Amino acid sequence: MKKIMITGACGQIGSELVAKLRDEYGTDNVLATDIRKVSTQAGPFEVLDVMDAQRMHDIAKDFGADTMMHMAALLSATAEAKPLVAWNLNMGGLVNALEVSRELGLQFFTPSSIGAFGPSTPKYNTPQDTLQRPTTMYGVNKVAGELLCDYYHTRFGLDTRGVRFPGLISNVTPPGGGTTDYAVDIYYKAVQEGKYTSYIAKGTYMDMMYMPDALQAIVDLMEANPEQLIHRNAFNLTAMSFEPEEIAASIRKQMPNFKMDYDVDPVRQAIAESWPDLLDASAAKEEWGFKAQYDLDKMTIDMLDKLQKKISHSA
Ligand code: NAD
Repeated sequence: MKKIMITGACGQIGSELVAKLRDEYGTDNVLATDIRKVSTQAGPFEVLDVMDAQRMHDIAKDFGADTMMHMAALLSATAEAKPLVAWNLNMGGLVNALEVSRELGLQFFTPSSIGAFGPSTPKYNTPQDTLQRPTTMYGVNKVAGELLCDYYHTRFGLDTRGVRFPGLISNVTPPGGGTTDYAVDIYYKAVQEGKYTSYIAKGTYMDMMYMPDALQAIVDLMEANPEQLIHRNAFNLTAMSFEPEEIAASIRKQMPNFKMDYDVDPVRQAIAESWPDLLDASAAKEEWGFKAQYDLDKMTIDMLDKLQKKISHSA
């Protein structure tokens, strides 16, 4: 992995992934692309709509890419509001990125999600290989995407790799319309207003992970010895599982006056209830040494610290 092209690079993951990879591999070896340019980061950038396969091919070839990281997608809550747009982008963009990677012989990474599971999946210690009958358009896209990545590996020998990310919590770029976004919003509102109204109901557990662990997982999986990979795509990942009361309690350890109430959004609540409570990530641990550094309280301390600085700086 020396010349890496990233699609959807201005999103919640991409924006931090670009910075991490530029630190690891050098600024000029990481090409950020997105349909919009919002980043002010120095380094190579191209405007690219992932629906334009020819332009994707030309950009990857001109850059001399040896790796493609495909991040452009519509996330769960937005996909439920616009299912056909989600189908077209999530499947069309993915197949374009896989085809360009096949044509140019690139190593390939794309994330799946806990959204690839559904109500009939075992909810606790959800196995790596299990029932996947999601009830959302996002979930349908993610299952199809996992299978497509497996297909490109077995059929064409493409070096495809991927993970099922849980909800990712970060303090740089706001999340792009997922069901777990509440676990990011709560920290911003804690710092800005000292209170938060949760759209996810009390008692609803979901897997989560702090962004530094997610970025390290991408690097570690892409660097892993392929002979040790049994699964390749869609490794279950998790660093913690909590429900709204538990994240609020973690915030109260740092901000004792923090208050939370509820105004549950039925759409996102239904999505959350269809997902697992806690994944079993043992395949990722065994096959490429996945290990998360942050638990809930350690993440809370870092989030509040970074957001306090960021918000006081921008005020
Ligand atoms: P995001 O919504 O924050 O960013 C997506 C980016 O894609 C945006 O910058 C957007 O401008 C870009 N984009 C949209 N349409 C495009 C197009 N036609 N062409 C090019 N770019 C386009 O998403 P994210 O959170 O960074 O997620 C990246 C990937 O990780 C997605 O596949 C998502 O499903 C997956 N994932 C994310 C999470 C999470 O918590 N963030 C969890 C599980 C999986």
